[in-house]
This record gives sequence, structure tokens and C-alpha cells, in this order.
Amino acid sequence: MTGSPVRYLVVPTAVAAEGAKSARFGDATILWGPAEEKLGRASRTAPGLVLVTQVGRSFQDEFPDITPLLDHGRHLVISAADKPRRRSNHCWRVEALKPGTVVDVPARVARRADPAIANLLAQLAPASYKADLTWFASLSTRHSLSPSFTTAVDFAAARMVALGYGVTRMPITVGAGHSENLIGDRPGTGTGPRGLVLITAHLDSINLAGGIGASAPGADDNASGSAGVLELGRLIASRAWIHDVRLILFGGEEEGLFGSKQYVAALPAAERARIRAVLNMDMIASKNSTVPTVLLEGAPISAGQLADLAAAAATYTGLKVETSLNPFASDHVPFINAGTAAVLTIEGADSANGHIHSADDKLDFLDWPLAAEILRMNAAALAGWLGLVSPPARPQPAGSAVSWGPGRLDVFAVGTDSALHHLYWDGTAWHDFESLGGVPG
Ligand SMILES: [Zn+2]
Repeated sequence: MTGSPVRYLVVPTAVAAEGAKSARFGDATILWGPAEEKLGRASRTAPGLVLVTQVGRSFQDEFPDITPLLDHGRHLVISAADKPRRRSNHCWRVEALKPGTVVDVPARVARRADPAIANLLAQLAPASYKADLTWFASLSTRHSLSPSFTTAVDFAAARMVALGYGVTRMPITVGAGHSENLIGDRPGTGTGPRGLVLITAHLDSINLAGGIGASAPGADDNASGSAGVLELGRLIASRAWIHDVRLILFGGEEEGLFGSKQYVAALPAAERARIRAVLNMDMIASKNSTVPTVLLEGAPISAGQLADLAAAAATYTGLKVETSLNPFASDHVPFINAGTAAVLTIEGADSANGHIHSADDKLDFLDWPLAAEILRMNAAALAGWLGLVSPPARPQPAGSAVSWGPGRLDVFAVGTDSALHHLYWDGTAWHDFESLGGVPG
């Protein structure tokens, strides 16, 4: 199919003209004229601009002859003249590019670092993360319908139990086959109505060309996110939190989000209403750009969580942050579709990772410092959502506070019984005015 040429212009966002039809992709903005719209209305086959969202380089690999008008990795703009007949599969999607589309908004500035959060982040254990990830990637495959997927679930369940989580295995269907989701719960200590924060990743892997039995180490996609769930779960279990936390490792993601779709569909409305945030990790350990970069992907409903993550990145990491409000192709999507605030954290420029979904998704290609930075960002944001219960301030037993007035001296001190005492001197003798109760230990 051929059409008349598309009239468009790609300019730096900083100099984009007001009022023109435009869509923003981070540093680049594409502008187009009103004539384009008239053409679009007059004829269904008239050229226009089409937005492509892809996992990895799936669209570009399938259509190598199509030259994008704008290439922003996960997002491309192509001419409608090049539009494929199919609108989507589970690796890519095409849709008309609407004026005002913003798939990438600038990151927020850093907030003031909180010493309690910095202290928490210091407890992240890269060695523990690496050991879990290495174990998952050592299985020949974690295909959802393979016996070794069950082996991976057994391993993760044992880790969660050891960390003190209550574990549930939820059976799911994947097409005509059967698989499962693994769920770990840890209640908060808040005495009022408690919210719920979900930390999720898909545990399954796939070799698209080779089928169930073919080698699919899935080191980046998604042992990196699965080990991230266990590591964040380990970190969270070291502290008391106001709200409840739930770890979920989904099955059936690679075949079309079967595990997360069925989880969301089965979630009671009251439980769904308690969700404060869903943090999904999918591919967090491949560095595809010179500068360590993370992409935060959500929807308008998760704008608050995106801002928190961007602020956490700016405050506690050296990560460059890209954001997208165009959710696609991972387990955050069914939550967003159900009206729940969910976000995906994924390595920047994931479209440049050509190893996924094959026998090549190996440990050799991982970048451990990048994963550690993304985990720091995620842990800092989670701490805000879960509400850290600070240990109560405890007076030093040796210390005392003294005040005096006419004919009277008051001393406040912690006794050997750990209670705070108020003593006073009336000019002739000491009196234990009152005991002010025990100091919580
Ligand atoms: Zn994935």
C-alpha cells in the first residue's frame, strides 16, 4: 500500500511549538499539521501517524523493512502507510497516534534523603539477590507448563516461608495447560484499617522459537525481577510496617499474562480497594544504554506512584529515569485495566536487548550494578507506601532532664526499671513525684 507522504517534523521537546498537533517522547517531540487530520477523516486509507508499543525489538524484528519516523525504543512512530494488517499480538500493539500523547514525562527532582530509608537501603544484599537470580537461571527452562517451573515455585515458596511469609499457591490455566501463581503475605502492624502493597514479577520464561522443552534460562526476563521480589521481600521482613505486603510470582506471563489476569479477576472487591500500589518488575538487569536507565511505566491512575519512584531514583540512586503512561505487555496491565494503581519498573531501552525469549538470555549479559540501583529505587518507594514503623525514641538511661524554680528542683530520669521518673527536691528531701510509665523497648 502506498499513500501521499506524511507531513511531520521531529524536534527537540525543549523547542516544540505550542498549539501544533504533537506527541512527546522524552527529549523528542513529533509535530504534525491539521492537513493530516483532514486526510484521515476523508479516507480510511489516508496516511497518518501510528504509535507502536513493543516488547524488546519484537515489532522491528517482525517488520525489518519498516523505518520508524521516530524511534524511542519501546515506542515507535510509523507512517500509517506502513501499518501492518494485524493490530496487535502479545509482543506489540499499533494504534493511531493521538495529539497530546505523552509517553515519557520528565523525572521529578530529588527529595531530601530520609536517614531511616538510607539505613534500610544499606541492608540490601546484592549477594543474596545474585544467588537467587543465578539459581533461577540455572534451570534449563521455567516455561509455565514445564516440570522445572514447579521446581522454581518450590524454591521461591521455601524462601518466602523462611522469611516469615504466609504462602499460597494459586492454580491457573495457561491455554489448555495448568500452571500456578505463588503468593506470600506478611501483615502490617498498623492498628487502623490497613492498606496492601503488592510486589510482583513473572517467574516463567520462554524460548519463542523452541517450544516448552527448549533452553530458556530467562536470566533477565525474568529471573532478574523474580529474584528482586525475593530480595525486597527479605528486606521488608527485617522491619515493622504499618501496611500489609504481598509478594506475587506469576506464571503464564509469556503466553499472554494468564497468571496476573486470573489473579486480578479472582481478587475480591474489598481486597482490591485496599491496594495502595502494585510494583511490578520485569527485566531489571540488562544495561542497554551508556547511562544506567530505568523506565517507569504506568497510567494516569498510577501517576502518584510513578512520581514517588522517580523521586526515589533521584534521591537514592544515580539512575536516569524515563516514564511512560502507555502500559503494555507485563503483569501491571491487568491491574491498571481493573482501575488499580500499578507500575512497571524495567531497564531503560529494553528494545535494545536482543537476547530475551531465547536460549541467549543468560547471566553473561547481566549488569549487576544496574539491578542493584533499580532495587534501591524500588525499596525506597516501597518504604513510603508501606509506612515504616519507627522504633520509639528511647531516653538514654544515663541521661536526665533538670528544671528548677523558686524553692524547687525537678529531675526527670529513666530508672533501672526502664520507667521514666519525675523526682523533685523541696529544699529538704527528694520525693518520687510520679512514675510516668514504662518506656517501650
Ligand atoms: Zn518479561
